[in-house]
Amino acid sequence: MPDFWFRLSLPVFFSALFALLLWGLFSGIYALWFMLLMLLVLMVRHARQLHKLGEWLNDARPETIPEAGGIWDDVFSQLYRMVKKHLQTKQKLAEELQHMEQATAALPEGVVILNDMNRIEWFNPIAQQHFYLDAEHDVMQDITYLVRQPEFISYLHESDFSKPLMMRPARHEDMVLSIKLIPYGGDKQLLISRDITQFERVEGMRRDFVANVSHELRTPLTVVNGFVENLLDLPDLSQDSAQRLLQLMAEQTKRMEHLVADLLTLSRLENNQNPLHEEAIDIGALLNEVIQGGRLISGGKHDLALEVKARKTMLGNPEELRSAFDNLLINAIRYTPEGGSILLRWFERAGQQVYSVVDSGIGISTQHIPRLTERFYRVDSSRSRETGGTGLGLAIVKHIAMRHQAKLEIISEEGHGSTFSLVFPARRLVSENK
Ligand code: ADP
Repeated sequence: MPDFWFRLSLPVFFSALFALLLWGLFSGIYALWFMLLMLLVLMVRHARQLHKLGEWLNDARPETIPEAGGIWDDVFSQLYRMVKKHLQTKQKLAEELQHMEQATAALPEGVVILNDMNRIEWFNPIAQQHFYLDAEHDVMQDITYLVRQPEFISYLHESDFSKPLMMRPARHEDMVLSIKLIPYGGDKQLLISRDITQFERVEGMRRDFVANVSHELRTPLTVVNGFVENLLDLPDLSQDSAQRLLQLMAEQTKRMEHLVADLLTLSRLENNQNPLHEEAIDIGALLNEVIQGGRLISGGKHDLALEVKARKTMLGNPEELRSAFDNLLINAIRYTPEGGSILLRWFERAGQQVYSVVDSGIGISTQHIPRLTERFYRVDSSRSRETGGTGLGLAIVKHIAMRHQAKLEIISEEGHGSTFSLVFPARRLVSENK
């Protein structure tokens, strides 16, 4: 500061010194005129710099800072440093804001910032999808005008947000959102929305599965229980009647055993930790075993035939493929009335190997076909149970197909038979040296 005053008064001091000299050499009036002139020059110079400063302040950028001399040089260099630092800070803040925006945009959750009046201040793209928000028109709109579900509005007015709200958005009826409100910064609120549709679906499937298994086990258990009570209540039952009851009980326990065996198979197949052990399989030999097993089960009631028209060595897991091939053949036998025909085919189609079971049985109407591989899905439950079905056979086949990158194709017409095919990718073929 002392330096500032010194430099400001230096020209005045030298002018005054020169004026004194003029006074001494000529007269006071010359000195006065000279002094006046010098002060005027100094004033004009300062006024010009002031004007430049005013002009520059309208658009203060470091690269346009005016050139100046004397004390103005100091002022402008300080201003230059200040503006430059300000710009750097601004740029840093803009970068940080951009990072924040990129991070929130990458979040799998929707984020909406609301003010204390529930007006939208900001939202990320996921929230835009969840609530159908418009980036242009919906900022500063009251969110309750845009998301009108009563449960959402009453959630916003609650004081306890520890539990999330489960809600289906108005325009996405098939979507389930979990919504949570987090107050912050005194008067702001963060609205977080998460798409839990998949989770809800899996949870629903799990609930259905447990209910189905319980139901499937309860029926035979109730029957067995009834027979046991009969035996206990009637100790004088004849040997024949007791034998018949035991026979019926054995059937029910066998049914439970099949169900548990299929459940275990399914859980083993679904286990990601259970890798597929593959080897080269002689499909010809395998199919011979499958058809022999089928003939035993059919007991001569059907006309069974085997047709092998493709290369016979394929990479796969022999136990799993045997189980899938058996399942499809056994279904054909169970759903084909006596006297019907069943054809097992192994052939090539567009470079792919196909295992097909063609039956002349009861067939399936079109609306059931997409759901047949769901666990416990049956077209006719009583027929399935009567023939010893667990409702899990096709679910098992589908899993085995997936583990072998194969496709399960079902073509069927009610009353006109069915064709179940497993289509294996060409890369599973093993070249045969003849
Ligand atoms: P299930 O033990 O009931 O046979 P699956 O999963 O093997 O269970 O089959 C599911 C349903 O698909 C069966 O209940 C039956 O309605 C139908 N289905 C399967 N295979 C055939 C077929 N070859 N002909 C007619 N319907 C079939």
